[in-house]
Amino acid sequence: MTEMQRLIDQLEEKGELTREEYVALLSQLNKEDIQYLRVKACRVAKEHFGNRIYTRGLIEFTNYCKNDCYYCGIRRSNRAVDRYRLTKEQILACCREGYQLGFRTFVLQGGEDTSYSDEDMIELIHQIKQEFPDCALTLSIGEKSYESYLRYFQAGADRYLLRHETADEAHYAKLHPANLSLKNRKECLYNLKKIGYQVGAGFMVGSPYQTYDNLAEDLIFLKELSPEMVGIGPFLPHHQTPFAMEAKGSLELTLVLISILRLMLPDALIPATTALGTIHPLGREEGILSGANVVMPNLSPTSVRKKYELYDNKICTGDEAAECRFCLDGRMKKIGYELAVDRGDYKTRMQTKLQRSSSGL
Ligand code: SAH
Repeated sequence: MTEMQRLIDQLEEKGELTREEYVALLSQLNKEDIQYLRVKACRVAKEHFGNRIYTRGLIEFTNYCKNDCYYCGIRRSNRAVDRYRLTKEQILACCREGYQLGFRTFVLQGGEDTSYSDEDMIELIHQIKQEFPDCALTLSIGEKSYESYLRYFQAGADRYLLRHETADEAHYAKLHPANLSLKNRKECLYNLKKIGYQVGAGFMVGSPYQTYDNLAEDLIFLKELSPEMVGIGPFLPHHQTPFAMEAKGSLELTLVLISILRLMLPDALIPATTALGTIHPLGREEGILSGANVVMPNLSPTSVRKKYELYDNKICTGDEAAECRFCLDGRMKKIGYELAVDRGDYKTRMQTKLQRSSSGL
């Protein structure tokens, strides 16, 4: 057994490592170590989730954004973006189609679009929850006040995705304009937790200026926050952003980080993201085989898909929702998994065990 494999065992046992150990792990793994890590992470995911992959229907409902994040294709300063926002009726139509296709979680994601007031969001949440009471609703609409988060939650929203992007102050400042701060981002995440949402955090792998030390900080922060969901994907440049000429993130490192996260947070819901599927044709499959357990196919109307381009060459922009659903079905079957038709809520391992023993499985 190599020194790195001993570290991996330790990570599985304790659920965390020191900063120095994370840096060592991220920078020194050889091919066999990576295989060792991946097999372990995949086994942990299987123990908890079996071969069932949770699905979430993603509705990208607006590409207007008041923020100017340097990495993001729909940043405010990108004048070339053809801006759109879906009406409530259009969003509900996406949900209806999704429901027919077996989705029991809808994710409303968008830029920070000030034209939707809290009242608009609350009405939308009410309508979705009323028509689809057996579905979970996830929001991913950026930084809001405690009060707004509370009101969305009281209206029926169940989960919230807000990647922290990077847990290092100096790195955060290199990715965002001065009006955005890591402090506020973190505060939002803690507020969401306090209110009772199932919370998702995460970061881009290989974003410009990122170091192994920054990644170690991300892992330490995630352990402390212990979110129910963790979304990571490789950074991919968008040609109309300040980072147009920056190198993309690495598929291999993203997969290693998924495996590390699986060992740190065995119960967490970890998606094989669209960015992973964009960087490599089998990226999402590789993600699942590295310990991820969620996929998030797109339910947005085909007419707007290309307009929600956070990075260049985003996949699935020409497909109908049903095509995406069936394509993923096939992809998961090929690697020995199946898509689950249920809400796919967060459960602790203890809850899963109790449920299995009471149902005699
Ligand atoms: N406005 C919402 C949703 C953001 S889009 C929010 O602030 O949370 C969802 C995620 O896409 C972002 O959190 C970011 O991590 C990722 N993303 C944005 N631009 C990207 C790029 N160029 N490459 C890879 N991922 C990107």
